[in-house]
Amino acid sequence: MRVAVIGGGWAGLAAAVELSAAGAEVTLFEAARQLGGRARSVDVHGHRLDNGQHILIGAYRETLRLIRTVGADPAQCLKRLPLELSFPGAGFGMKLPRLPAPFHLALGLLNARGSRLGEKVAAVRFMRWLQAADYRLAADCTVAELLDRHRQRGKLRRYLWEPLCLAALNTAPENASAQIFANVLRDSLGGERADTDLLLPAVDLDRVFPDAAADFIRRRGGRIRLSTRVEQIASPFALAGETFAHLVVAVAPQHAAALLAGTAPASAEMLAGYRYEPIGTVYAGYPPDVRLPCPMLGLDGGTDSRLGQWVFDRGTLGGAHGVMGFVLSAHGAWDERDGAALLAALHGELEQALRRKLPPPLWHQVIRERRATFSCRPGLPRPPARTSLRGLWLAGDYVCADYPATLEGAVRSGVAAARAVLASGNDHG
Ligand SMILES: Cc1cc2nc3c(=O)[nH]c(=O)nc-3n(C[C@H](O)[C@H](O)[C@H](O)COP(=O)(O)OP(=O)(O)OC[C@H]3O[C@@H](n4cnc5c(N)ncnc54)[C@H](O)[C@@H]3O)c2cc1C
Repeated sequence: MRVAVIGGGWAGLAAAVELSAAGAEVTLFEAARQLGGRARSVDVHGHRLDNGQHILIGAYRETLRLIRTVGADPAQCLKRLPLELSFPGAGFGMKLPRLPAPFHLALGLLNARGSRLGEKVAAVRFMRWLQAADYRLAADCTVAELLDRHRQRGKLRRYLWEPLCLAALNTAPENASAQIFANVLRDSLGGERADTDLLLPAVDLDRVFPDAAADFIRRRGGRIRLSTRVEQIASPFALAGETFAHLVVAVAPQHAAALLAGTAPASAEMLAGYRYEPIGTVYAGYPPDVRLPCPMLGLDGGTDSRLGQWVFDRGTLGGAHGVMGFVLSAHGAWDERDGAALLAALHGELEQALRRKLPPPLWHQVIRERRATFSCRPGLPRPPARTSLRGLWLAGDYVCADYPATLEGAVRSGVAAARAVLASGNDHG
């Protein structure tokens, strides 16, 4: 069976790996010169860094399975740490102990530093309510509304629920879908203890999955055509002189909307209504003796003027010492600032978190991904993998209806599309 996959992000790669493993003849078309899409490595001031700091969690089962399938070792390429949220500037800290579920969560919440007992009890009640409801809401609403309804206030709201919402959905709690947030909680805090672990890339992102996936596809006779943008699709599926029985479109939603307009208008129309959220990453090279007390530190010191959410110490993640990666999620005041102003503000926030003066960075680089993720709003429609045109399938983070825009959503969608192709057989070519 000959299958074309358009897009070499994690969704397209997952589809191509799954298809290749089942014996399909795969050709993957990627517009860029490299694979990985929105989760790729870039060269910054002589360092191999990521286009944005990515966080995986233990609950990313399909991602971990595929990393193993292609021959990479998650234990080598990802640093597993118990979930720890540390905001020293605000006197808040929470770490989940290595105890079986649900004791890890109950104890982690009750021992959270800097929050009141009433907030902790309310948080435990909130999780128990979600669990009793099987994490299904009668009607979707915003995360802020859900938190209000369940009296989630004070520091646990500000330093647990809201940062989790921003990190997972890349959408402010006032705009984010409570149902998708509940799904994320179901699979993380509501799962086994290991599901809550943070898995931070300890090698550059290309080496976590895309490089090994490409080798796997090629070893099975598949072809990868880089720098090859597919301009339009039409049935029968002929691309670059080849004819394919199936076509998996695994591009970001804004690109899919344009590509599908002529062939799957219902999907294209749905995607044309999507809104997007940015992510900014500011890399700063400090002298090598500048270190953080933990690999990932919260920057919110309790003031309303703060810009950054997290800073990562790349030296503790297999990178050079002194290199810090600041993360700025979703639309916010940071959007408008130029690089120098951003760096100055983040430098100050880091000093406040560490409660000490720091030497100025020796270099910095700002990476702005304007359309990093779709804006994960209440009731956002998601297209299924199957389109109205036989043999034309969709994959991509936005197709995985259970999840926000994440690596796990992308990988799951790719695997699901591949399985649908395999199940429907070779009757289109
Ligand atoms: C800065 C940043 C930080 C993030 N942090 C996290 C995180 O911490 N945890 C997490 O789980 N997720 C995170 N995400 C989200 C995650 O990266 C995405 O959800 C995921 O990578 C999407 O994969 P995809 O394959 O669906 O799409 P993409 O990665 O967008 O892949 C689509 C590919 O299709 C190619 N393409 C487009 N049009 C064409 C065409 N016409 N012909 C050929 N090729 C084409 C593109 O070049 C691209 O390579 C982050 C994203 C960003 C940008």
